[in-house]
Amino acid sequence: MNPQDTFGSLVFNDAVMRQRLPKETYRALHKTMVEGTPLNIEVASVVANTMKDWAIEKGATHFTHWFQPMTGITAEKHDSFLSPIEGGGAIMEFSGRELVKGESDASSFPSGGLRATFEARGYTAWDPTSYAFIKDGTLCIPTAFCSYGGQALDKKTPLLRSIEALNRQAMRILTLFGHHQVKRVTPTVGPEQEYFLIDKELFYRRKDLIYTGRTLFGARPPKGQELDDHYYGSIKPRVSAFMRDLDEELWKLGVSAKTEHNEVAPCQHELAPIFSTANIATDHNQLTMELMKKVAARHGFACLLHEKPFAGVNGSGKHNNWSMSTDTGMNLLEPGETPADNAQFLLFLVAVIQAVDLHQDLLRISIASAGNDHRLGANEAPPAIISMFLGDELQAILDAIENHQSYVADARTAVNIGVTALPRIPKDTTDRNRTSPFAFTGNKFEFRMPGSPMSIADANTTLNTIVADVLMGFADRLEQAADLRAEVEQIVVDTITNHKRIIFNGNNYSPAWKDEAKKRGLLDLPSVPDALPYLLHGENIALFERQQVYTGEELHSRYEIQLENYCKVISIEAHTMLEMVNQEILPAVMAYAGRVARDGAEKKRLVEDLDLSYEQKLLRRLTELINAIGEKNDALRRALLDLENVGSDPLAQARHCRDSVFHGMQELRALVDEAEGIVQDQAWPFPGYGELLTTK
Ligand code: ADP
Ligand code: MG
Repeated sequence: MNPQDTFGSLVFNDAVMRQRLPKETYRALHKTMVEGTPLNIEVASVVANTMKDWAIEKGATHFTHWFQPMTGITAEKHDSFLSPIEGGGAIMEFSGRELVKGESDASSFPSGGLRATFEARGYTAWDPTSYAFIKDGTLCIPTAFCSYGGQALDKKTPLLRSIEALNRQAMRILTLFGHHQVKRVTPTVGPEQEYFLIDKELFYRRKDLIYTGRTLFGARPPKGQELDDHYYGSIKPRVSAFMRDLDEELWKLGVSAKTEHNEVAPCQHELAPIFSTANIATDHNQLTMELMKKVAARHGFACLLHEKPFAGVNGSGKHNNWSMSTDTGMNLLEPGETPADNAQFLLFLVAVIQAVDLHQDLLRISIASAGNDHRLGANEAPPAIISMFLGDELQAILDAIENHQSYVADARTAVNIGVTALPRIPKDTTDRNRTSPFAFTGNKFEFRMPGSPMSIADANTTLNTIVADVLMGFADRLEQAADLRAEVEQIVVDTITNHKRIIFNGNNYSPAWKDEAKKRGLLDLPSVPDALPYLLHGENIALFERQQVYTGEELHSRYEIQLENYCKVISIEAHTMLEMVNQEILPAVMAYAGRVARDGAEKKRLVEDLDLSYEQKLLRRLTELINAIGEKNDALRRALLDLENVGSDPLAQARHCRDSVFHGMQELRALVDEAEGIVQDQAWPFPGYGELLTTK
């Protein structure tokens, strides 16, 4: 296989459009894609027809609007190209109207109350900024999903709005800096995806993995990740065959999977694509996750995308690398070559600093899920406290600027920071801090809090919006300023002074940081119910409305959906635990205890004065555990039943799930894990950690 021939072979991309569309149509579509101008129906009809012919040549028979409801996964509604004609025949048809707009019954997707006020019907609308592609014989058309009242019912619509918001404000700044040739600013994103591969056979023997994607029980194996011998280790042949196959599938869809290596935990790996626009990166990441699971199955693996599949073993995240780029190819977070470039760079840099400091709550919410609560703060991923890492060099520069001192880059280049020139920043500011939730890595920021299974739409919607809002304030100031340069410097100094508390270059895993962060007044929101109430604070609703990303109504609906989802996940986990305990674990422990008892009685019958003190002790412990497990099992069942009595407030329900249900799950688990440690291996009803984590 030649990657160059494969790459994008199933994508209706720019090259295909240029080749197949009439010039006029191509130009109109291109304008829509690059500048966001509306598309008229005549153009859409020509595009649809060309798209259909191309797809049929590639073997497609159906088309679907491919959209991302608030569940965080993707949804499809397949229609055949076939249209019956008079006389009994059929032709292959696909109209501009079908391309641009689809109807869908919105009632089966979460709407968080929006459904109550509006019709059940929703519509999907083509997003021409993300290319159509063919998957499993179906032409997939990336679309946004809205209610008839125009409310966003998906993750793409707000993302697209936030991209617009960032473009609007960043363009104002660039105009002030004299970049008149720039037409558009787009956020760029490269998400690094972590995942586990375990044996498929073993996966299907555990109900917890099947129903919840993570292990709800599991005694620690003698060898976990203590030896750190997996990280960047050599890749096993079966895994590398999977990776090759996955790459090929992704390349066909135009996803530029680039690096693949082992991660810290056993059986854990990572895939990084080459970055693209926030919109395409989000679509591609959804496809990547879907294909990982599909291709894994072909190789006898199950791909786990949960944030924390195994207790005591590092979980999986998704590092969201983010920057802003112009249509002329300028990366706005790239330190420049000249003092003038640097003034602009520093302005965008401090805009991000201010945005993150002001909106820690929103960033925390953008990655909040029941699964991610296990990972954040577990000394393997950033804590639930948001802070930023800049590195020593950049830190020294900002310190110098704040104090109006000169900064000495190295022995050769001392740079003066007067009122007239900002320093030239050396390019290699690449020191690493892997514990930071939000790290500057040379020419982009890496937001490390998203969980492995999440759509990155929410995180990027929030990032784009909060940065847009800060840039809006900067632009307001700069447009009024008599002396632009002086005002830029004043903004930079003001921002550093007012927001430097968010910068922390030390170890985010240390307990001391928790105290220090508290002193600095930073938010520490360990769980979903801690974080979500912030979403409805007046200033947050005002912010999203000001940037035209969410209406207050849409925010309320998202608040409810996120809390409902948290409750659902925990309830499913608790029910799964109960089922496993009652149907598998208790019977196994009781059977084993019975065997110990019967064998002991048998021995005693043969040799009357035999000392069976160890067997007796074991039997006693097993019986104690059986009783305790039984008790905690009942307590968990009651906690679940109590959920009915909490009332309809989603926040109260979520708190009950955390404090009562989840708490009960942990107590039950501790006992079961102890039992697993003393029951004979073959008598345990499903494969344990040792076996799962040594998948070959
Ligand atoms: P690192 O090892 O520092 O994490 P990589 O080169 O592996 O860096 O990049 C990590 C991810 O960041 C990749 O997906 C890459 O495409 C992405 N990336 C690089 N530059 C940018 C940028 N300007 N904007 C967004 N993502 C970027
Ligand atoms: Mg990285």
